Amino acid sequence: MADRTALARLPKVDAVLDADPLQSAGWRRSLARRAVQGALAELRTAVLAGKSVDIPDAAALAETVAARLTSWARPRPLRVINATGVILHTNLGRAPLSSEAIAAMADAARYCDLEVGLYDGKRGSRFAWLRPFLCSVIGAEDVHVVNNNAAALLLACTVLGAPGGVVLSRGQMVEIGDSFRVATMAGAGGMRVVAVGSTNRTHLRDYAQALDGEGPDAEGVPASALLWCHQSNFRQEGYVKEVGLAELAKLAKARNVPLIADLGSGSLGAGLPAVEPTISEYLDQGVDLVLASGDKLLGGPQAGIIAGTAEYVERCRRFPMARALRPDKTTIAALHATFAAHAREGTPALPLHQMVALHEDGLRARAEALCSKLGWGAERVVDLPAAIGGGSLPGDTMPSVGVWVPCDKPAARARALRLGDPPIIGRIEDERLLLDLRTVDPEDDGALVEALAQG
Ligand SMILES: *Cc1c(COP(=O)(O)O)cnc(C)c1O
Repeated sequence: MADRTALARLPKVDAVLDADPLQSAGWRRSLARRAVQGALAELRTAVLAGKSVDIPDAAALAETVAARLTSWARPRPLRVINATGVILHTNLGRAPLSSEAIAAMADAARYCDLEVGLYDGKRGSRFAWLRPFLCSVIGAEDVHVVNNNAAALLLACTVLGAPGGVVLSRGQMVEIGDSFRVATMAGAGGMRVVAVGSTNRTHLRDYAQALDGEGPDAEGVPASALLWCHQSNFRQEGYVKEVGLAELAKLAKARNVPLIADLGSGSLGAGLPAVEPTISEYLDQGVDLVLASGDKLLGGPQAGIIAGTAEYVERCRRFPMARALRPDKTTIAALHATFAAHAREGTPALPLHQMVALHEDGLRARAEALCSKLGWGAERVVDLPAAIGGGSLPGDTMPSVGVWVPCDKPAARARALRLGDPPIIGRIEDERLLLDLRTVDPEDDGALVEALAQG
């Protein structure tokens, strides 16, 4: 039963606004008013739902609302310590940027020469100085950059799929996560996506038929482009057949239609497991346009890379939709710094590549030092599998080392660590709270010790 007398005891909005600490906190009054109204509405809903509610007085509610506004206005997102062992953790912002990339972003955030030639003072393009550099590092005729890989897919399929649509194998109808599906995004601009083959097997003749407008899904209309999608986050085994990329490229050439390949991960090769295909390997096999993310195996900011033949890249760049998908100046700055790291010999000086390269011995030494500072026994140092993540190299893990946090209630302890400053994100496995050191910056080991000492 709802307690009607409780509703009558709710404080008045103006009384809350005039009570300290809200009165003195300096928030815009219209904002504070909406926040108070929101808090009152929550109380009213709880009362009407029959819950037992302590009705606050004006001062108490003012304090609650002031705390809520302070929390809303804290700088966000918060930096966290990633102790999950998943290097490209989508929920934690994927690739951490290099200090050079971060500095470049901060510089670009002020006034910068984004679209002006410093020599002649004339208006230029934001991509002008980026393009030749990216083309050379990737080894592509031309490159265009958009907001993310989903945007690259949308743009490439909308432009090159006209008029008959793109052909995609059912075996490559990948879902990336959080309901993002490649086939849906390829068709999001209104372009037709013709599904061919079956889940486990697709043949070259399936593609050829769709280009002829034949087969169950072509409905008599010849398709205009071929789309290939890297099965980035899963693997098929058993009675399976996928047409090879080179074979598909031959068909595309013979029919004079473009072949778009969504690689997703965007490896450039150096410092990463060789099983993951690189952008240039795709291009070498005759793909016309390769699409890749900037914040997966490239190790940079969120961006979409469209690399390929000059004619097709140019058509994407000129298409009106491209303007709506363009990256901002800080992304361009970070991307440039990321490619500068890829331009050098050896393992790129990027956090992703450095973390992949870490040797177990070094990780074990850090885990042991951590445990000894905390007075924990040697059994707290544990071998763990770490993953690159970000929808790349499914099932592939690398040996890593971490600590097993002593506690009675792992979920409660994990939450306490998440709510610390800085928040620490671990993982729970078999009722054990684990902190993997591969993804923790060694500079943060001290912060780990401090947080864990409060256990
Ligand atoms: C990750 C991924 C995408 C989406 O990339 P975003 O940069 O997150 O938009 C698209 N296709 C494939 C194959 C992917 O792996």
